[in-house]
Amino acid sequence: MGGTASTHKLIRKDGKRYDGRAVDELRPITIQAGVLKRADGSAYVTWGENKVLAAVYGPREVHPRHLQNPARAIVQAKYNMASFSVSERKRPGPDRRSQEISKIISEAFEAVVFVEQFPRTTVDVYIEVLQADAGTRCAGITAASVALADAGVPMKDLVPSCAAGKVEETVVCDLNKEEDNCGEADLPMAIIPRTGEFLLLQMDGHFTYDELMKAMEYNFKALNYIYKLQKEALRKKYATVQLEEPFVLPKREEPTVLEPEANIVREGPMAPSDEPQQGDAPPEMSRDSPGGA
Ligand code: ADP
Repeated sequence: MGGTASTHKLIRKDGKRYDGRAVDELRPITIQAGVLKRADGSAYVTWGENKVLAAVYGPREVHPRHLQNPARAIVQAKYNMASFSVSERKRPGPDRRSQEISKIISEAFEAVVFVEQFPRTTVDVYIEVLQADAGTRCAGITAASVALADAGVPMKDLVPSCAAGKVEETVVCDLNKEEDNCGEADLPMAIIPRTGEFLLLQMDGHFTYDELMKAMEYNFKALNYIYKLQKEALRKKYATVQLEEPFVLPKREEPTVLEPEANIVREGPMAPSDEPQQGDAPPEMSRDSPGGA
């Protein structure tokens, strides 16, 4: 936020942004649930140029044991940016920024997971940023909440997250990297849609009161849309396959009408002999048949 100046206008004369989006428009978002075989739950989110993977393990035993809470589970989120996720190689390993983001995400999810149901355990949430283009903490929270639901961890609700900001004195929704670098303010938010509670509200830079209200309005509109995408991603994973045409049992073929017994040729010990055998019922004679009465 408030970094180097952009080489071009971020807000065009027609009021649109330099990437063609309207001020309240999100970048394209896709969410996929259950992408990792060995995690209890997982999700993959693409959000504009961001690519973020979330994996959930637990509730499981806490190590080291002194971290155990006898009254409830703890949620331990680990946000990590891959060294190849940004244009200039990022130094691998935790830094102050990733520690801060991990902390706010852990606290956000401790307020939405029913932690009292799993005393002495931990729910581990790993967020791996494979490609970054601003808004990765929001994409990470969005992915992590789908991964938690995919793992079957009981929660009050899914958690959508999004950041609005201010660019060239204009309030805009969902900043990309250039807007984030050259913008004047940034407002990431995450909520529990069912209760309206805030799980994350950060502000970097300065907004006037009216600008802040507008940024929140854009965020709420975006959160509502992202919430629908999250539910759709989970529904898609568990949807049963449906054929376009209804299943109809194949029609039974009419049995072939057999010729009278005499024409059936049998072989082997069961073959009928011409000669009547002991115990055979006497043949019925029709009146017309030769030798009949
Ligand atoms: P967020 O990704 O949640 O918006 P920031 O505002 O801290 O978080 O970062 C904005 C963007 O700046 C990131 O998405 C990423 O593209 C870039 N960035 C962050 N940290 C680094 C870094 N160490 N090296 C290069 N780029 C970075």
